[in-house]
Amino acid sequence: MQQAPSSSCATPGVTRRIVIAGGGYAGTTLAVNLGRKLKGVPDVEVMLIEPNPCQQALSELDLVAVGPARSEFCELWHPTVFKDLPVTVCYNRVDAVHPERHVVTVGPRGEATEEVAYWRLAIATGAIAFVPPVPGLKEHAVTMWSVADAQELQRRGEAQFRVAATLKDPAQRARALSFTVIGGGATGIEIVGTLAQLLPKRMRAFGLDPADLRVRLIEGRPDILFDLGPKLRERAKRRLAKLGVELFTGSMVSSVEADAVHLADGTVVDSSVLVFCGGAKADPDAVGWGLEADPGGRLLTSAVCKSPVHDDIYIVGDVAAFRDPETKKTIPMLAQFAIREAEHTAGNIIREVRGEAPTPFMPTMHGEFVSVGPSWGVGWMFGMNLSGLPAIIMKRLTYVLYWWQVGGIPLAVKRLREMLGMQR
Ligand SMILES: Cc1cc2nc3c(=O)[nH]c(=O)nc-3n(C[C@H](O)[C@H](O)[C@H](O)COP(=O)(O)OP(=O)(O)OC[C@H]3O[C@@H](n4cnc5c(N)ncnc54)[C@H](O)[C@@H]3O)c2cc1C
Repeated sequence: MQQAPSSSCATPGVTRRIVIAGGGYAGTTLAVNLGRKLKGVPDVEVMLIEPNPCQQALSELDLVAVGPARSEFCELWHPTVFKDLPVTVCYNRVDAVHPERHVVTVGPRGEATEEVAYWRLAIATGAIAFVPPVPGLKEHAVTMWSVADAQELQRRGEAQFRVAATLKDPAQRARALSFTVIGGGATGIEIVGTLAQLLPKRMRAFGLDPADLRVRLIEGRPDILFDLGPKLRERAKRRLAKLGVELFTGSMVSSVEADAVHLADGTVVDSSVLVFCGGAKADPDAVGWGLEADPGGRLLTSAVCKSPVHDDIYIVGDVAAFRDPETKKTIPMLAQFAIREAEHTAGNIIREVRGEAPTPFMPTMHGEFVSVGPSWGVGWMFGMNLSGLPAIIMKRLTYVLYWWQVGGIPLAVKRLREMLGMQR
């Protein structure tokens, strides 16, 4: 039996402590499900270790970046979520995992000294934006991976409005009002669509003419939205054209300056505000925790979402390289998979608490929706293609459903009301 550690995070004397590292989609879902189902079970503690007091629900970040939504729209506050649940939330970070001793070290990077023992550990530390080493890219582009990123984009956009308002020369003004998004996957399309649809309204507030706005999307592959079928891609492209977005597909970025993006074919794209949505990589810290990783840095898992080597460690969400047993491919970094893995893992941990064996996870995808501007979307569900209003309704409903699953009816109703308010 493991010794309970002396720790400001942990409740002393508990022998079956379930530690969850990371409170994003996967970690929060797991903690909520375990908290609800293990209420009153003796000698079990559920502990969530997460540095932020809220989960940042990233899928609607574009609405914060351009304005109709305030930051709270994407922030699921843990004190509210765990108010009535027996979950110990420790606002800190896991610095290291010591599988051989069954403890995690908690605290600031390089200075962590506090140890917390676990009976089961779930690693759910997600992913971060990956910026390739293209000259100038890191210095000049804003990534889109947090509410702070969205606020930074908003700040840069408004700073350019102030500059443009002072310029008499139309060409200079258009250059000052040039917004470029790199990356034609779902995140890039959502950001570029929302910029193109909402910036004109914001510009009028600054006395600017929306005709001066330039919105561009650069994608290295020959087409956008590679995960969707060709028909849906065409519809998305028609919508982007209607919103005035200029597309550069099959175009690799070779270098970036403060006001321009250089493409490999020699094209120079004016760009005063640049957003990079070109990639993600699994939490780089987790790779150093002594667990096996795939070449992309995602931690390998067994069919039951555990480390193949350490039977008391689960790995869920973006940080996990779970292989779909049917397609033999690693499942994509998507919230819908993170949530399902976490729900399944909650069931498995409860089985283990009862002394039963965990069961394999079977990933399924019932649909996928991408917004192209705040009031239009494209996607599919149960084999059926949708676009326009039905698709955007489905995307927003999925978001509300998540708030309902983890926060209950009051939070879901709040989000729904805010969404309806934004459509006015
Ligand atoms: C802009 C954007 C839009 C997206 N839109 C969609 C969409 O429409 N649909 C969809 O399905 N997916 C979407 N995704 C992907 C989706 O957000 C991710 O797949 C999802 O967040 C993964 O959940 P997670 O719990 O694994 O990681 P996250 O939600 O990223 O959570 C990880 C958590 O771990 C914490 N953490 C990190 N390191 C540590 C540590 N050392 N110790 C403790 N805690 C730590 C972090 O603070 C964070 O809270 C989008 C992603 C982005 C960036």
